Amino acid sequence: MYGDNRELTHYIGIYEDITQNKLAQQRIERLAYTDNLTNLGNRPAFIRNLDERFARDSDTPISLLLVDIDNFKRINDSLGHQTGDKLLISLARRLRNSLSTSGSLARFASNEFAVLLDDTDLESGQQVASQLLTTLDKPMFVDNQLISVTGSVGLACAPLHGRDPQTLMRNAGLALHKAKANGKHQVQVFTEALNAEASYKLFVENNLRRALTQNELDVFYQPKLCLRSGRLLGMEALLRWNHPEKGMIRPDQFISVAEETGLIIPIGKWIARQACRMSKQLSANGMGNLQVAINLSPKQFSDPDLVASIATILKEEQLPANLLELELTEGLLLEATEDTRLQLDQLKSFGLTLAMDDFGTGYSSLSYLKKFPIDIIKIDRSFIHEIPDNQDDMEITSAVIAMAHNLKLKVVAEGIETAEQLAFLRRHRCDVGQGYLFDRPIPGAELLEKLKRYPRGPIA
Ligand code: C2E
Ligand code: CA
Ligand code: CA
Repeated sequence: MYGDNRELTHYIGIYEDITQNKLAQQRIERLAYTDNLTNLGNRPAFIRNLDERFARDSDTPISLLLVDIDNFKRINDSLGHQTGDKLLISLARRLRNSLSTSGSLARFASNEFAVLLDDTDLESGQQVASQLLTTLDKPMFVDNQLISVTGSVGLACAPLHGRDPQTLMRNAGLALHKAKANGKHQVQVFTEALNAEASYKLFVENNLRRALTQNELDVFYQPKLCLRSGRLLGMEALLRWNHPEKGMIRPDQFISVAEETGLIIPIGKWIARQACRMSKQLSANGMGNLQVAINLSPKQFSDPDLVASIATILKEEQLPANLLELELTEGLLLEATEDTRLQLDQLKSFGLTLAMDDFGTGYSSLSYLKKFPIDIIKIDRSFIHEIPDNQDDMEITSAVIAMAHNLKLKVVAEGIETAEQLAFLRRHRCDVGQGYLFDRPIPGAELLEKLKRYPRGPIA
């Protein structure tokens, strides 16, 4: 304060105790940036760290690891969420203990952790990643139970795989996705190929829906022959995508995306109808009764409407049920729920034929073949391919045929390309054959003409 002559006379000070404010602020900060189960930093905290790190120094290499606990949902479902939570707390502690002080660890999502390693290049990052996997592998006691888990890790390094936080995060995510898709329990390092894969997938996702409505999908048919008599028995319907710019796309390149997006359900119904119509049309053209097979993805069985829609299609297309065959995957039977079994029993009761596709590539247990109403097994083409050079494949093939016959199942061999393969299969009394030796998959419009050259009629 100034006096009359503008001289300084007093000071006035005001003070306020803001301890509480500060503490509250800190608490809010902590809540906002802490995962309250494990006390680790959470995703926003980690991102803030990463942003700061890039702003400070963008040259020294850093490694970003995304760690996912495999099959965590199953653990939660079977042991309960409380035990699941305790397990996560122990896992978090383990991860923290196995990292040196320079690494920062955060919990990203229920079963996902992230690690940022400063001053760590690709090679050292990989070492830490495999150490983490080993650490996770050790069984642990939770609630008096010994629990074993495994983890998957995606790794991306800056500046090699990304020069900004967003790119680095995305690329580590792609690597983790790959690790899981490849069967989990492994470390995957980001590569440019993963980027290409991801953008291809996006392309399929964006275009496949339109393909169905714009008539870009098509069906090819591959004949199946009785190996004893050489007669034509029927054909397998195989999906094709005729993309306006990219040309003909094979199903291997889009079926998995169709499954992930659920589009396989309408596509499956569409192809079932086309196939039934084709069999009907061939018979109207004097080809007799030809059985048509369609491939069903496990995902289609999650559709509660599956059985009813097949019944409707058969009825509307007026095709006898015994002329429709369903090719199923081993995965479907392995993971079959009570619902799946019911669906299969119902389909079977209509009179449909059920075939197990790609036999030999998966679990290949004969015991579950007996548990389900399966009529036919199809030996995978990878076994046929190296006949007569591969002794193992030949032994497996002949054993599978004999075993299947003991179980009163018919056997189809697919991928027959040479006369030797055919002779071998006939010698071992394989029932039905399919492959390039006879015909490649044929466009619907050419089918009638092509099929006319085969002898026809019921199996002798
Ligand atoms: P798949 O069911 O094992 O079908 C047989 C595949 O082997 C077909 O490939 C066929 O073109 C090919 N093939 C046939 N004979 C030979 C041969 O002698 N040598 C060789 N190397 N290959 C032969 P395509 O048409 O590319 O189908 C690939 C897979 O896509 C199918 O394998 C099937 O799993 C899936 N798929 C095809 N259509 C559908 C569909 O409508 N729905 C579902 N869910 N999956 C389908
Ligand atoms: Ca098939
Ligand atoms: Ca097959």
